[in-house]
Amino acid sequence: MFELRRDPIVGRQVFIAEDRASRPNDFLERDSADSADQSPADCPFCAGHEEQTPEAELEVSAATSSWQVRVVPNKFPALSLNQQAFAPQDTSSLESVPQMPLGAHEVIIETPRHVQDITELSPDEVARVLRVYRQRLRDWSEHDSIRYVSIFKNVGVAAGASLEHAHSQLIALPDVPPAIIAELGSAEYYFAKHRKCIFCQVLTEELSHGKRLVFENESFVAFCAYAGRQPYETWIVPRDHNAQFEHLTNEESLQLAAVIQRLVRSLRSRLSRLSYNLMLHTSPFRQDAADYYHWHFELVPRCTQLAGFEWGTGMFINPLSPERAAAALVASAQ
Ligand SMILES: [Zn+2]
Ligand SMILES: [Zn+2]
Ligand SMILES: [Zn+2]
Repeated sequence: MFELRRDPIVGRQVFIAEDRASRPNDFLERDSADSADQSPADCPFCAGHEEQTPEAELEVSAATSSWQVRVVPNKFPALSLNQQAFAPQDTSSLESVPQMPLGAHEVIIETPRHVQDITELSPDEVARVLRVYRQRLRDWSEHDSIRYVSIFKNVGVAAGASLEHAHSQLIALPDVPPAIIAELGSAEYYFAKHRKCIFCQVLTEELSHGKRLVFENESFVAFCAYAGRQPYETWIVPRDHNAQFEHLTNEESLQLAAVIQRLVRSLRSRLSRLSYNLMLHTSPFRQDAADYYHWHFELVPRCTQLAGFEWGTGMFINPLSPERAAAALVASAQ
């Protein structure tokens, strides 16, 4: 099988170049053998080691216990609100975007216990973490200098994680990043032409033929992306049209937790060591995208190396068709 697919939202081109002889498991066995397990004794995210992180921005606690979720500034931030903006010196073709360095970088510690993945938390704990995402988005939306907040998880060495204790990261940006600009642009164009949200349309089609469906519940649908960049790339999309993750209800937080856990559990059941990136895409602040944008998560397992072709062209080669990937994930959940 060899097919060039175009992502329906951003137009990204992906070659589905499947070797029929390979099994869906082959792509998940890569990497991470070199990640020595970290011990809770040296883990700065474990309860009792709070002094090893900067002071918390937010702590969620139950009346009877210590904290349950903690949000702290990243000790080694990629961005900081206190950074001096770099002013371009000349008019050369090498443009530096003057405001970009200003922002903030936070770590969301998902549990006081030393566990490594979202599958080891209870559904209530995962839902609580999702509500902390919602809370931080609401908090940052009140900063006039912040336009977009990127929330993501890196799990496993191949996905860029340096600490194994379950955590998410948040980067607050003064501008809308290119990946979101591309999605907004396509979605706005589609809406102008068809008076419909393109994500709702994709969801309707995925549900109707079911070829790439992985899981669904009352509020969410998970399906392998039509033009997935990597084997098993899966999107989690709310059934109800909504541009902003900040509008998530408490009931939806439980349903979303269930879908994420089920998906990661299925991926894990196919291999002992899984690396993945889970990324939230939501509307920028103060952007009138309510009609045409639709928040979602993209989960990309990191099982093939990005190499010269990808770096050189911005295109991808995916050696496992999204249809076979979905079938394998559905089978492993049973
Ligand atoms: Zn820990
Ligand atoms: Zn929609
Ligand atoms: Zn997206």
